Amino acid sequence: MNSQKTIVVLGAGESGVGAAILAKSKGFNVFVSDKGQITSGYSKILNEYNIPFEEGKHSEERILEANEVVKSPGIPDTAPLIKKLNDLNIPVISEIEFAGRYSNAKMICITGSNGKTTTTLLIYHMLKKAGINVGLAGNIGHSLARQVAENDYSHYVVELSSFQLDGMQQFKADIAILMNITPDHLDRYDYKMDNYIDSKFRIIQNQTENDAFIFCHDDEIITKELQQISVQVQKHPFSIYECLPKGASLKNNDLIIKNENINLNMNQNELSLKGKHNTYNSMAAGLAGSILGIRKEIIRESLSDFEGVEHRLEILPNVRGVEFINDSKATNINSTWYALESMNNETVWIVGGVDKGNDYSELIDLVKEKVKAIVCLGVDNSKIHKAFNGVVDTIVDTETMHDAVKRAFELANEEATVLLSPACASFDLFKNYEDRGNQFKDEIRKL
Ligand code: ADP
Repeated sequence: MNSQKTIVVLGAGESGVGAAILAKSKGFNVFVSDKGQITSGYSKILNEYNIPFEEGKHSEERILEANEVVKSPGIPDTAPLIKKLNDLNIPVISEIEFAGRYSNAKMICITGSNGKTTTTLLIYHMLKKAGINVGLAGNIGHSLARQVAENDYSHYVVELSSFQLDGMQQFKADIAILMNITPDHLDRYDYKMDNYIDSKFRIIQNQTENDAFIFCHDDEIITKELQQISVQVQKHPFSIYECLPKGASLKNNDLIIKNENINLNMNQNELSLKGKHNTYNSMAAGLAGSILGIRKEIIRESLSDFEGVEHRLEILPNVRGVEFINDSKATNINSTWYALESMNNETVWIVGGVDKGNDYSELIDLVKEKVKAIVCLGVDNSKIHKAFNGVVDTIVDTETMHDAVKRAFELANEEATVLLSPACASFDLFKNYEDRGNQFKDEIRKL
């Protein structure tokens, strides 16, 4: 039956190629179209699977013949082609929505403005340790659709960006996790915070009273929204400020996870991930594990031996008494706030790049308390100077990682910690945040 239907996939990245493989395996006619150049790895895969594709253009007549379109999360709904598809009532869905139709696996889905990747990997680590046959998918860089086509996992841990959530209609998370909501990507949401909040809350759409919703009770945006909508799902809040009767809390430095399945008490020092934000991430992961019925010894062990994720508050080896921390993934104010908050030592802070409308005033109190000197690393550093002139005595400008590390090392003067936590995107001077973090590490090695 499927052979009479055509699925067009727009965008031939990880998710698009995965969707095409799944569509082909289910017997659909498949056509992949990418307006840009397809990276050689992906065109090779499409050829291997005998999937027809085009690159450098969108052939409209062919695309408009589709019965259904799977769109890459990178393509906005406002793109003219998507508008045309909408006008013609051709359904446009996401790769995750498509994949969900063909899987009975338990879906543990994580979203939020910050902390998605760390929490996703922490839960994956826990499920593996518990001996569960689990796949890792979504925004983390592995297509869910491809794994559904080619593997037989009983569980998936899926990281979801708001763009991925936008294309989801029937998909249901068995366990949904919402870490936090702070302004991000507002350009894709008509600069309206409410639209962005709605997008994040799609994580619980279709959930029933048999499903679980794990969320941050300290996040006012989340709790306010929850008061306004009616939800059937079982709620599992986590908080570091309030002692909750059910959920995860902190009491006298102990992390407590309590619900029908578990009563776990664990000293915060046992957690392998440090900092307040990471306590949240550990709480969310612990709750997910408890809901899945994982034994508390395994949960405890996973939270204490997880090795962390590169470029996220990654502690590097000392150089002549100076500690270096790589938090290159911090591309907004909120994540940098948590990085600065977790610093126990005087700090030389490397910051800058392309900012998405940053309000640096939110950092002033922490900077006053913790930062000894600022090293700006960006093409245009004027906003940083304006925000911190008079707050920090020393603010220097650099335009290469080599200079930034050299100046920061001198300013640290054998006693301070050097923190790269840019609060900005990287593409003015680097390929991406990984390139920025790797160059940071390379330059430290050369000192
Ligand atoms: P995401 O996948 O949502 O971008 P990551 O786990 O990659 O999140 O972390 C991104 C940045 O946010 C890092 O700089 C990290 O230190 C910081 N961060 C991690 N978890 C949280 C959290 N729960 N709240 C705020 N910031 C966080």
